This record gives sequence, C-alpha cells and structure tokens, in this order.
Amino acid sequence: MATLTFNDISFEDKEISIQINFLRIFSAEIQKKELEAIGKFSITKNSITFDAAEAKAGKKFNFLLAEAFKNLKNKITRQKTIYIHQNSGIPLIGHNAFGLIDRNTSIIEVRCITGCNLDCLYCSVSQDKRPIDFVVEKDYLVQGFKELVKHKQIDNLEAHIGTQGEPLLYLPLPELIKDLAAIPEVSTIALDTNGTLLTKNKVDELINAGLTRFCFSINAANQELAEKIANKHYNLQHILELLNYISKKQVQLILTPVWIPGINDDEIPKIIELSKKLGCDIGIQNFLNYKFGRNPVKQMSWEEFIEKMKTLEKQHNAHLLFDFKQDFNIRQTTPLPKPFRKSQIIKAKIIAPGRLKNEMLAVAKERVISVHNCNMPLNSSVKLKIIREKHNIFSAVLI
Ligand code: SF4
Repeated sequence: MATLTFNDISFEDKEISIQINFLRIFSAEIQKKELEAIGKFSITKNSITFDAAEAKAGKKFNFLLAEAFKNLKNKITRQKTIYIHQNSGIPLIGHNAFGLIDRNTSIIEVRCITGCNLDCLYCSVSQDKRPIDFVVEKDYLVQGFKELVKHKQIDNLEAHIGTQGEPLLYLPLPELIKDLAAIPEVSTIALDTNGTLLTKNKVDELINAGLTRFCFSINAANQELAEKIANKHYNLQHILELLNYISKKQVQLILTPVWIPGINDDEIPKIIELSKKLGCDIGIQNFLNYKFGRNPVKQMSWEEFIEKMKTLEKQHNAHLLFDFKQDFNIRQTTPLPKPFRKSQIIKAKIIAPGRLKNEMLAVAKERVISVHNCNMPLNSSVKLKIIREKHNIFSAVLI
C-alpha cells in the first residue's frame, strides 16, 4: 500500500474522474481508469492510497499529475492556468504578469497570481484579451526574490505584492508574506487589494505574517456605483467596516481610488473625506487608456489631472500629490543585467502559452520573452527579434 499525502492538493470524486483541487481555486482532472492502472485506489481529502509499491505509485502518480496540470483551470476566472514552479523551466524574470519585476529601485514587485474576483469596467488587465492565467509556486518566488536582494546589496527594500488581479486569491499569501518578512533586507511589504475577499481575521493574519502596508482600491463611496464599477457583487458596507478596522492597526493604509472621468468624479471628494476620517493616506490614480485594457472613457491628460489634484488639495486640506521617491523612500539600485537589447536576434525555446491571445512564452538566458502573433508548438526552437525591452521585461516577434 502507498499513501501519497499533499498540502496544496485536495481530491474530489467525479464519477469517471478524480478532480484535483490545487491551492483552492485551481482544478484539474485525472481519469479513474488511469489511476486504476497504477493499482486499486481510494482517496481522502488530501491523500490518495494505491494498492501498489510506494516507489511505483509515487512515480506514476506524479506523471499523471504533471499531465493533468497541463489542463489546469482557474475556477474563478474559468481560464486555463500555467503553474510556474522550480521545475517548470519558466524563469521568474521577463514578464509583467507573473514572477518578479525589478525596475532598478528599492522596490521589488512580486506577482504571484493572475485573475480577479471582480470584473471592473475600467480594468487595465481584464480577461477579455488575456485568456491565460498564471500561478507561481511560493518557494520558487521567495528563492528568486532572495537572489534579487543579493544583487541589489541595499537595505530597507520594499516587497510590493501587486498582481494582474487580486492577490487574496493566492492561497499561500500569508506564508509568502512571512517568508518575505524574514529576509533581513526587507523592511516594507505592501499589498495591492480590492479588499472584497478580506475579513477581519484575514487582516490580522496578514499583519501577523509581516504585512506593513495595505494599498486598498475603493472607487466609490456609494453602493450602487461601487457595484456598477466592480461589475460584480460588491458589499460597500463590508469594505467600510474593514477599512475602519485596518485604520486602527499598526499598519499603513493607503486608499487608492482610480479616478475614471465621467464615472466617479463625485466620489473622489467623498473618498478624500473618508481617508481623513480614517486618518489614513490616499493616492488617487489617474485612469489611463491601455491597448489591452478596458477603456470606457478617454483618460484625463496628466496636466489636467495634476491641476485637479492641486484644487482638491486646497479644498480638502489634504496631501494628494506625492513625490514618490521621497515619500516612499525609493532609491535607485544597481541595474539587473539585461541579456538582450532591442532589435537583437536571439535563439529561444517556446515553453508555454502567453497571457495575451496569440502570444507564446519563450525562454532564453534565464529570461521569459513574450512572443507576439506566435502559435509555434511547445518545446520548438525559434529565432526571435527583440522588439521591446524595459526593466528586463521582453517582447519579441518570430523571424
Ligand atoms: S479589482 Fe483590479 S484587477 Fe480586479 S477587475 Fe478590478 S481593476 Fe481589474
């Protein structure tokens, strides 16, 4: 008899298959007849037992699991999901949707998951044009983070968990925060969240793990409009109670509304007053038009936005315009070497579908490269021309 027990996986009987639930919101299936080929089996919540020798059962089950994960699905977004782990062959640097982003400052951006429980009408990273989700193994992310820290050689670093989606969907978020907080050079851990999945217990858990800043997006102080913007069920009362709760904790709270002209103009002054009532910071964001985002309105020019901020600062006697470098103690750090330059022709290997439609991911020199208009098979060797490189985020086309 061989019993295989898992922490991140649970099993569910589905008549002709066994559903594998991974990190709560992902799932894949293995046909029962494939499992029976290993040996007679039974499941409990987190384990599977085979009437077979342990080594054989372990090896064969891991093979079936790896095959099933090729069709991993995000149960919230219902999208195909790529699991990026230590043995996936996918580096953590090179993409803006997952892994680590180093913009040569004292902030390292940590992107552990994509996908969101809301569907905001202004979302710049919405699913419409992004049919693939990603989730990253926590230990792989932490290991990669430590290597970047070594390269930077400065203290008081910020780990900023900001995802193309909602990071509260990442089950091991408290453990991720705990591991980042244990790195001596890290002094700040910030989290961008829409707050809808938070509870008071979760707030406490994250703070106890080492979170030092909540960046909380709230776009309206009016239930009807908040729900209209979120495009999903949205409980404003719950959000307000949480904000009140967080504001009394030993943690920085920043409200981060997005000003969507013509949609929430009347809400911005109310949110400024809310921040004053809570005694917290506020960082109003200018809604921007993106090619691959939702664009319900035309963005305000930066000049107009700054003028409006100055007027609101006077009207509400509030600090609204930040000098980010100074206010957030952002310092320049040694740039991470870029293995490619723009226009360079390189050889790479196709490794996974990309985040965008008609995009594939390629790998070369420990970097991920997004290849546009590509439908080459997995594992094929390709010749690419780099068309964009900024902060070690690369895009290319086939040549
Ligand atoms: S909360 Fe953010 S990521 Fe989620 S749908 Fe809204 S804008 Fe997009």
